Amino acid sequence: MKISAETYPTSVEIPNNLSDIQNLIVQHNTIISGGTILQINWEAGVEKPKHLISTEKLPELKGIEEVRLDGQLYMRIGAAMTISDCLNNSFVRKNASILAEACEKIAAPAVRNRGTIGGNICSKIGDTIPVLLVLEAQLSFYNGEQEKMISLRKWLAKPTPPSSELLTNIFIPIINAQNYSFFKKIGRRETFTAAIISVAGYLEYEEYNIKAKLSIGGGAHLPCRLTLAEEELNKGMKEIDWSCLYKKIQDDFSSYTDPFVTADYRKKVAANLFLATIKDFVKKQRKE
Ligand SMILES: Cc1cc2nc3c(=O)[nH]c(=O)nc-3n(C[C@H](O)[C@H](O)[C@H](O)COP(=O)(O)OP(=O)(O)OC[C@H]3O[C@@H](n4cnc5c(N)ncnc54)[C@H](O)[C@@H]3O)c2cc1C
Repeated sequence: MKISAETYPTSVEIPNNLSDIQNLIVQHNTIISGGTILQINWEAGVEKPKHLISTEKLPELKGIEEVRLDGQLYMRIGAAMTISDCLNNSFVRKNASILAEACEKIAAPAVRNRGTIGGNICSKIGDTIPVLLVLEAQLSFYNGEQEKMISLRKWLAKPTPPSSELLTNIFIPIINAQNYSFFKKIGRRETFTAAIISVAGYLEYEEYNIKAKLSIGGGAHLPCRLTLAEEELNKGMKEIDWSCLYKKIQDDFSSYTDPFVTADYRKKVAANLFLATIKDFVKKQRKE
């Protein structure tokens, strides 16, 4: 049977290592990992690209291990590791338990077995992003010539065109300080659902001093850290001004209204989630 180019108008490159893709990252190429988001887009009518570059066989994008960079210990996660790989990895569970929690709340097992952490991040709306923001993750990207590191926070702020650079690895600092971290995702039902909002936090406490890192994402929100709210908590006050914190959380991010949920509702849900969790944490610390 003759297969015409019209039937299969998309070509797929499956390079075996990074040096094979030197000339492939150019305009009109699209990087594909699990393809779970790209597939939804195509089904929704987005035009299929002419050329796909698959990350499937790149060894540089595989593995989860401890590495030392400039004297700091990191957990390196290859961008082509699936969401299930991250969820089931004991090293991830030990050193970044909230990442495993977030992975557990992504889609159903079939999608988690196919979708990758790299694709989740590069979509800029994935549920792992708020968690990786409070864990202060660094990303490495390959531009066809060399690999460069950038913090996730800085990368999110850049208007990077999709597929212009290949995400190769995620580096999460390994921190031994006593801390409490949390991830909470609110959807329109309990499981297998997209988020209305998701929040993540990292809290350290010593002698009334709180060191807080808070972030928000989920749905179509561009994930971000809540700097105003963090500053309010990090003031080191004996009595936290909860109503001020409640307001600052709501002022700290932009939201949106869709046919199901208003922006105002999302903001209130986020503020309530943070306040309940932080109040509980502070109460426990002051009892000890
Ligand atoms: C039914 C269903 C439910 C879902 N539920 C959730 C959910 O609850 N939470 C959630 O966060 N997501 C959800 N998703 C979205 C998706 O499955 C995950 O975000 C997944 O992790 C995406 O990874 P992927 O490898 O499939 O990405 P792909 O579809 O392969 O790629 C996504 C984007 O990232 C780019 N990209 C991929 N890899 C790289 C790379 N290494 N370097 C540079 N760019 C790259 C692609 O070009 C594309 O723009 C769901 C999807 C489906 C189909």
